[in-house]
Amino acid sequence: MTTILDGKKLRDKILAELKSKLDKLEKKPTLVVILVGNNPASRIYVENKKKTADKIGINSIIIKYPEKITEKELLDKIHELNKDDNINAILVQLPLPKHISKENIMNTIDPRKDVDGFTPYNIGKLFSGEKPFCYPCTPKGILLLLDEYNIELEGKHAVIIGRSNIVGKPLIQFLLNRNATVTICHSHTKNLSDITKTADILISAVGEKIIEENMLKPNCIVVDVGIFKDATGKTRGDVDFENVSKIASYISPVPGGVGPMTIASLMLNTFELFELKNSNH
Ligand code: NAP
Repeated sequence: MTTILDGKKLRDKILAELKSKLDKLEKKPTLVVILVGNNPASRIYVENKKKTADKIGINSIIIKYPEKITEKELLDKIHELNKDDNINAILVQLPLPKHISKENIMNTIDPRKDVDGFTPYNIGKLFSGEKPFCYPCTPKGILLLLDEYNIELEGKHAVIIGRSNIVGKPLIQFLLNRNATVTICHSHTKNLSDITKTADILISAVGEKIIEENMLKPNCIVVDVGIFKDATGKTRGDVDFENVSKIASYISPVPGGVGPMTIASLMLNTFELFELKNSNH
């Protein structure tokens, strides 16, 4: 019998706890989200972030720019937000238009306001085994979900598929910190299923349906990060949920698994940055 890793339920629990802490505060944290252009998926993500923040009592501001904004204009805005004492969390929604360097943007956000944990300072801290100001939201959410179900990672073989800067790469460090043995795969990996069959924990972050039940060891733990729309417009994950759930001991669904945990982590990060700022005053 498989157990569903229920991200919605845990998100609701985390947000309720956070709300009761926020209700007691006179001054609330403020999160600024910058959205450049008209990417429909980004627009939905940004609106969901705002809706969640508003619901629990975090002030949220969306700053929208047209696609043609220059890099300098965006950098100037970030400098201004860095200096603004009323703002304690800044998120620049990715992807950015091609003429804007993501690296230059990340290099400019004050690491103490870097709510996504993507600035070189925070990533560097994470990879050197030190505590960053903020941890990247999706890997943080995955770990919170595994912890909620008391899934032990020490000595386990964790296989990650996908090596992006936002999911796969930071996850390596999260899992190493818990003494897992980590293998990371990508589009050039040969004989993927030979590797996935050795996984005690499989985390897939690709964005297409690639994981079938014959690629897995019985009773493995499966975390599905991927999100895409199939031909009928339905939201899907990387994993053939129906068949894999027959052999996995735990499995996260899409939707309702990692997605809600990413939002919960963002709210936790906003609150933690706010507390950090206040503790320094
Ligand atoms: P990304 O930057 O596009 O990375 C995808 C990764 O998958 C790359 O490393 C790519 O390898 C690898 N890959 C592609 N095809 C493969 C194959 N056939 N076999 C093995 N590896 C393959 O994507 P991302 O930003 O990490 O996102 C991945 C997925 O997770 C997307 O569906 C995204 O929507 C979803 N996501 C969900 C959340 C959430 O909160 N649930 C958060 C973030 C992302 P190469 O590096 O060799 O190209």
